[in-house]
Amino acid sequence: MDLMKITKPLLAWYKENARELPWREDKDPYKIWISEVMLQQTRIEAVKQYYTRFMEELPTVSDLATIEEERLLKLWEGLGYYSRAKNLKKAAEKVMKEYCGTMPGSYVELLSLPGIGEYTAGAIASIAYDERVPAVDGNVLRVVARVKGSRENVLLPEVKKQVTKELSEIMPEEAGDFNQALMELGETVCLPNGIPVCEKCPLKEFCIARKEGITAEIPIREKKTERRKEERNVFLIRCGEEIAIRKRPEKGLLANLYEFPNFEKKEQSVEDGLAEWGFSVKQIKEKREYKHIFSHVEWKMSVYEVEVEEKNAEFLWARREELLEKYPIASAFAPIVAQL
Ligand code: SF4
Repeated sequence: MDLMKITKPLLAWYKENARELPWREDKDPYKIWISEVMLQQTRIEAVKQYYTRFMEELPTVSDLATIEEERLLKLWEGLGYYSRAKNLKKAAEKVMKEYCGTMPGSYVELLSLPGIGEYTAGAIASIAYDERVPAVDGNVLRVVARVKGSRENVLLPEVKKQVTKELSEIMPEEAGDFNQALMELGETVCLPNGIPVCEKCPLKEFCIARKEGITAEIPIREKKTERRKEERNVFLIRCGEEIAIRKRPEKGLLANLYEFPNFEKKEQSVEDGLAEWGFSVKQIKEKREYKHIFSHVEWKMSVYEVEVEEKNAEFLWARREELLEKYPIASAFAPIVAQL
């Protein structure tokens, strides 16, 4: 599929369908910058009101560079990712100092400002100055992958790099409109989650995903997760009516939550572990195995139900009702709690 074919129909479609948005009223790079950063985390409809409020109070780079940080964070409230707001201010300070208060006029210079990455630099440079550089975000990756019928994983940096290169090669003079058209098509027609409105799409004649009926499968987004695997023995230790639990450390995984006693299998055997805790065991039953997946680690747990002669001081001992009501038990242990 020759991507060159998409430029004309896409530009024609954009002329007819571009939404009226406050930051599109003129090609002010400052306005484009602020709107692009806001749009990275929030839906377009919601951004409008934040944007208007922001511009009323900070209409120029100089206003942004000199605002009190606390006031800036207040203006940013509701948008989240406060580091982005702080970077805006840092970048504005740099623009005041090094560019006499005028936004830098090229992609490369924009890229040197704090918080401005390839996408934002591409968006500002193309929309404000028609510099022929792409601005590749998730919407653009989706549209291109579908048009090409590509099953490459769009979350891989090398795939994004390749799409950026291909778009650079076909970038028309109206670079700003072209980039915005691709983004807008992704936002309003070539929707994610397998429900694109292909009949309204200017690219439907060329689109391979549509022709092959695979729009629901593309783009491929596979997160590379290399989780550490830990095998753990977990103990439901009972002494009469009471059950042993303990509080996890203040920092790290499941901080400050409660858990059933456990250790990694490779550390020691079940018998040694129980002996080290000082228990005389009356009865021990292996119950079941289950897994819990965290973002960076996966626990494969073997659960043992143990009855002991006496409590020890190392653990907290609680009756079932107290345990359920009073102690926040980490959800990794939910299957044990469910069977109490
Ligand atoms: S034809 Fe459908 S799947 Fe293809 S680019 Fe257009 S909206 Fe997306």
